[in-house]
Amino acid sequence: MVDEHLIRRGISDPEVLKAFRKVWRHHFVPSSFETDAYQDYPLPIGHGQTISQPYMVALMTESLRLKSGSNVLEVGTGSGYQAAILAEVCRRVCTVEREAPLLERAKKILSEEGCKNIDFRCGDGTEGWEEEAPFDGIVVTAAAPSVPGVLKEQLAEGGHLVIPVGTMYGQMLVSIEKKGDDFIQRDICGCIFVPLIGKYGWSE
Ligand code: SAH
Repeated sequence: MVDEHLIRRGISDPEVLKAFRKVWRHHFVPSSFETDAYQDYPLPIGHGQTISQPYMVALMTESLRLKSGSNVLEVGTGSGYQAAILAEVCRRVCTVEREAPLLERAKKILSEEGCKNIDFRCGDGTEGWEEEAPFDGIVVTAAAPSVPGVLKEQLAEGGHLVIPVGTMYGQMLVSIEKKGDDFIQRDICGCIFVPLIGKYGWSE
């Protein structure tokens, strides 16, 4: 998976590649899909949600430009796979999921995997996690109609927010870097994510 789907498509950050070699994706997918775990596509995890495609997880992680000391927020825990990758790359991960059963499943898997630097919260991640801010990186793993301003406000200086923005049916993955009072936005690539539902997302 790492050679064929990540390196060949341009993922080059050694820390990100190391994390993908260490974290087993088949531990995070339902047992009926285990044989597909190392293919480059999303898979269902229940509650109408998916574990993202490995290339997209790698691209989002690399785009955050994290360092070993970084504090990062993930909105949309889902299976917990991206949280596990982030936890390998940086100091601390705060992850928020609105579906309680998915959060409980992810917590259990991540504790079995021995991840100790992850904090969990059940709720609406479009509001961020103010008490734990500022974040060196914020990654939103569901599609937003627009960039929630409150997430930009929770970025540390030099931090990056990576988020898919667009319609329910197709989005642009964008990176927003905080530089002083400015926010520098760059397009990364087209993508398709499940909807971000909440106060600053889509309504239910
Ligand atoms: N990062 C996940 C992919 C999750 S799919 C992984 O590695 O498996 C997107 C997730 O975002 C879904 O689980 C969905 O329930 C969640 N979600 C949608 N809107 C949300 C919100 N406002 N706050 C927190 N989680 C949300």
